Amino acid sequence: MVSMDALTIKTENKFRSLITKQAYTKGQMICEIPTEKIFNKANRYTVQIGRDRHTEVGKLAALNHSCDPNVILDTENLQMVARRDIAKDEELSFFYPSTEWEMDAPFICLCGASNCIHVVAGARFLPLSTLENHYLNKHIREMMIELLNNTELHLAKLQAIEK
Ligand SMILES: [Zn+2]
Repeated sequence: MVSMDALTIKTENKFRSLITKQAYTKGQMICEIPTEKIFNKANRYTVQIGRDRHTEVGKLAALNHSCDPNVILDTENLQMVARRDIAKDEELSFFYPSTEWEMDAPFICLCGASNCIHVVAGARFLPLSTLENHYLNKHIREMMIELLNNTELHLAKLQAIEK
C-alpha cells in the first residue's frame, strides 16, 4: 500500500500546488487514486474515472494541469504514476484532458510548454492530433471514438439529404 504521506499541498497567493517530499523514478507508482466518494458530475475536487464516474481525490485535487506533466493518472488501475524521474520538492502535475472529457471550470494554460494546448476545457474540445501525443485513459479514448462515429453518422445523414 502506497500512501499520500510524501505529498504536501503548498498554498501561495491562494494558488494551490501539490509538492512531493520524495524523489521517484520514471514508471514508479506514487499513490493510489481514492475512490471512496464517487459522483456522477465533475467538481473541482474530482477526477473522472469513467463515463459518469467522478471520484473525489483528496489531496490530489491540488494537482495542477501541465501540457508537459510529470505524473500520469491511470484511472483503470487507479494509480498515480511518475511519467519521468521526479526530484524531491518538485511540483506534481498531470494533463487534465487525460481524465476529463468536459471540465466544470475551463481555464487558459500558461505552462509555457512548446506543445501547450492553451485552452484547458476537457478532451472533447481537443483535436485528435493533439490528444494522440498524450497519455489518455480508456474512458476518454472510448468517448472520443464515439464522438467521431457520431460525427461520421451525422455527415452521412447530411449527404443523404443532399442527394
Ligand atoms: Zn499548457
